[in-house]
Amino acid sequence: MTSPAIYWLRQDLRLTDNAALTAAGAQGPVIFLYVLDDETPGAWRSGGAGRWWLHHSLSSLRGRVPLVLRRGPADREIAALLAETGAASVHFARDYAPWAGALERNVKAACEAAGASCHRYGGFLLHEPEAIRNGSGEPYRVYTPFSKACFAAGEPKPLKPVPRFTAFTGAVKSDRLEDWGLLPNKPDWAKTFPDLWTPGEDGAAARLKDFIRTGLADYADERDRPDRDVTSRLSPHLHFGEISPAQAWHAVRRAQLAAGGKLDKTAEKFLKEVLWREFSYHLLHHWPSLPAEPFRREFRGFPWRDDPAGLKAWQRGQTGYPIVDAGMRELWATGIMHNRVRMIAASFLIKDLLIPWQEGERWFWDTLVDADIGNNAASWQWVAGCGADAAPYFRIFNPVLQGMKFDPQGAYVRKWVPELARLPDEFIHRPWEAPRLVLAAADVELGRNYPNPIVDHGKARDAALAAFQELKGAA
Ligand code: FAD
Repeated sequence: MTSPAIYWLRQDLRLTDNAALTAAGAQGPVIFLYVLDDETPGAWRSGGAGRWWLHHSLSSLRGRVPLVLRRGPADREIAALLAETGAASVHFARDYAPWAGALERNVKAACEAAGASCHRYGGFLLHEPEAIRNGSGEPYRVYTPFSKACFAAGEPKPLKPVPRFTAFTGAVKSDRLEDWGLLPNKPDWAKTFPDLWTPGEDGAAARLKDFIRTGLADYADERDRPDRDVTSRLSPHLHFGEISPAQAWHAVRRAQLAAGGKLDKTAEKFLKEVLWREFSYHLLHHWPSLPAEPFRREFRGFPWRDDPAGLKAWQRGQTGYPIVDAGMRELWATGIMHNRVRMIAASFLIKDLLIPWQEGERWFWDTLVDADIGNNAASWQWVAGCGADAAPYFRIFNPVLQGMKFDPQGAYVRKWVPELARLPDEFIHRPWEAPRLVLAAADVELGRNYPNPIVDHGKARDAALAAFQELKGAA
């Protein structure tokens, strides 16, 4: 009888376009193993919203294949499973998190000790980080030449169909998904998530199809508008590997070709955004301290403030700046926030409140369904001005002007900050400037049913620039 092959699932919760599964299936009956690993040294325990997603994604996958669920350090669990089943090989896709390399080496050692072969395949990127280098053989630090190098490297490989495999049917101990406690207890803050999300491979495929049908045409022109629904919302599906970036890439290319040139600009824009994801991981791979420390060392001495009350107001969407509050409330209610509003809200925390970007990174890590170690760290550093190819520090988003530009009729604010819904467009992004009669007619009483601004943006901006000067002086 052929020995079984272990396929260790990580951020690749799908069957299509899956090199590790294809190879495992060719070796023998496949044991589908998922390990909930909160114990590997240095690993970031996934946050609340990510755990909600994981539960549903695994639940969807187990409807298609039998899953063996284990909890603990992944290398320990793999060693145990090898001993229990006599599996002859282990197959997995690479991860790029700072702690993943050591873990993968331990898995290899466990395989060697058990006399099993160990096979690692490309991970959840289009290009392995080692493959994209500049003319001097160094990793890129700037996005534009990086993205050009990615385009020059050619189209992603053709997709792999769902492979032929036989699932292993012998008795193997498995935890019960329901016992892992991934879903929120009381209060159930995720109760509205299912209205918006369908975790799992089928949900991802449907989302991609829907985006191409309804969002792609307007993507280039409207992707910065939080009041429009044109972006793909593929980020959590990509994070959990329910869809590969190559699947998204090829589908958009097919749509572009079919449209005979009409979608060229918008398709390129979308692919460039997918390459921001690549760039984040490229940075993370080459600079593994990215989630914790500023890429630009001079920012280590930045005079941050300790402001628990400001942090709480930001987290709860009670800053008095409507576009910031709308974003933070959207995040809490849906597990996602529009990219433009992420930038505005992050800038507010870092530059108006002078709270360290790592505090915002942690909050997003816990509340985003797409919380992702590479994208989150790189994006926070980008906004903070301390990242590799970051917005300059002195580019401070004005939350009123940003609101007026990207949510001109205030539809996004009205949806998430209903207490302001009846304000006229003119004042929706700056209620404190509305005449008393206008506020009264809209049933808004600042300080009672909506806060006064917790800081004056003009003064906060000056303070941020002064802090930046102090940093430069100290350098
Ligand atoms: P689309 O516009 O449809 O883009 C398609 C895909 O490209 C996305 O799904 C995503 O994988 C990738 N992408 C798009 N924009 C970016 C970007 N700026 N950086 C990296 N990849 C991008 N994204 C995450 O996936 N996880 C995070 O934890 C995360 N944290 C962020 C924190 C801050 C402060 C900011 C400013 C941005 C963050 N982003 C993060 C990036 C971006 O906001 C999301 O990827 C995007 O909003 C997801 O929506 P979408 O799938 O509709 O994107």
